[in-house]
Amino acid sequence: MSQNPLRELPRVDRVLARPEVARAAAELGAPVVTALVRAEIEEARREILAGARLTAPTVEEAAEAVGRRAAALVAGRTRRVLNATGVFLHTNLGRAPLSEPAQRALAESASGYASLEMDLETGKRGGRAAFAEAALVALTGAEAALVVNNCAAAVLLVLASVAAGGRVLVSRGELVEIGGSFRVPDILRESGAELREVGTTNRTRVADYARALDEAPAHAILRVHQGNFRMTGFVERPALSDLAELARERGVLLVKDLGGGALVDLSELGEGGASRGFSGEPTAAACIRAGADLVCFSGDKVLGGPQAGIVVGKRALVDRARRHPLARALRLGRLPLVALEATLASYLRGSLDDVPVLAAILRPLDEVAARAERWAVALRARGVEVAVVETEVEMGGGALADRHLASRAIALRPPGGADALAAALRRGSPAIVGRVEEGALLLDARTLLAGEDNLLVDAVLAALGAVR
Ligand SMILES: *Cc1c(COP(=O)(O)O)cnc(C)c1O
Repeated sequence: MSQNPLRELPRVDRVLARPEVARAAAELGAPVVTALVRAEIEEARREILAGARLTAPTVEEAAEAVGRRAAALVAGRTRRVLNATGVFLHTNLGRAPLSEPAQRALAESASGYASLEMDLETGKRGGRAAFAEAALVALTGAEAALVVNNCAAAVLLVLASVAAGGRVLVSRGELVEIGGSFRVPDILRESGAELREVGTTNRTRVADYARALDEAPAHAILRVHQGNFRMTGFVERPALSDLAELARERGVLLVKDLGGGALVDLSELGEGGASRGFSGEPTAAACIRAGADLVCFSGDKVLGGPQAGIVVGKRALVDRARRHPLARALRLGRLPLVALEATLASYLRGSLDDVPVLAAILRPLDEVAARAERWAVALRARGVEVAVVETEVEMGGGALADRHLASRAIALRPPGGADALAAALRRGSPAIVGRVEEGALLLDARTLLAGEDNLLVDAVLAALGAVR
């Protein structure tokens, strides 16, 4: 061995020639893998210079490390996941799964061109999203509709187009953070409007809004749906209709950030009140009826469609949003648009069972229980110890924070520990995500989609083999 380990650092081409590195290059391409090799050698060089390592890695060691780097890169790709978490609209798992009609529309549109902005009758330029907007008008009773990239974009666009340069009143109880980086005060500032806080964190009355309007003029009142948290105890908020009356009297606009945005009243669905656990999610139509001028909501929450942001309301105001320069930057892509159209078509036809989120909510508990039993029977037949337990599922996605629906899950307590099994299932293909509670891994039978049962049972057997 030479005195200077820097001279012993492996050559890039030698590492690239190793079989595991060549395999990675076949998958990721030579430029990416060459960069990984360089990074690995560079790191060894820095460690030697810093005195953190005394010898250079061998070619084999460097190749192994590059293999790990390549595997980590591949693992970062979005992969299919079976949702056994007990949360329907898991934001980290892409929220709503799409209906079969939406999947077909996606596949068809993705494989060719589409009449996205062409009127095929005339061959001239046509309106983008005309069908989705007409469907939303029919389903909400609003005068007009507009679709954009997500609800955060919808709120930003609406405020920028109707309130920029003016004041917007928001209750202190609604200056909230919703799902990661959506903070109401930040969105307001970015829209160019000035925030005027009203009332207190726990209690805000119509009189508080009225006093704020006496003190200084404003363009709008923004009302934010408290979907992802619940305040209880000494709390008070005006009814939306009372706020609408004040807004009308004072000549200011009432904008509702509804977030979830059901298109149908969940409390009226299902036999025997199957969805009663989820009643209370306000519909977009109810907000329009209550007198909101503009209502914003998500396409991939309770609606059960793709990521999208929807604006419904007064025609003149929706058109102002449509003409705003930001509308182009925030517009919805072709693929989510065709999936949204197909989802809305299911609502128009009344085929709510098409929409997986609604179907899962409406599934009677005894069916869910029978499903969990079937998994347990299949696993016990293979010698796995498993119990069926009572659980509650939640909506997720910033909706109905305190509402739960009864469900059943299988509970696994493997000798290697529930966390190890959960990790092995997450690494599988498809990955399965459950939840660990009190030392048991729970896999929920209500949130798993139809047709995924065999995949789940097989994956559990494979993962148990890996962690035993
Ligand atoms: C979820 C939510 C949003 C953000 O919706 P995205 O579609 O994720 O942008 C905004 N406001 C409320 C009240 C929400 O619940």
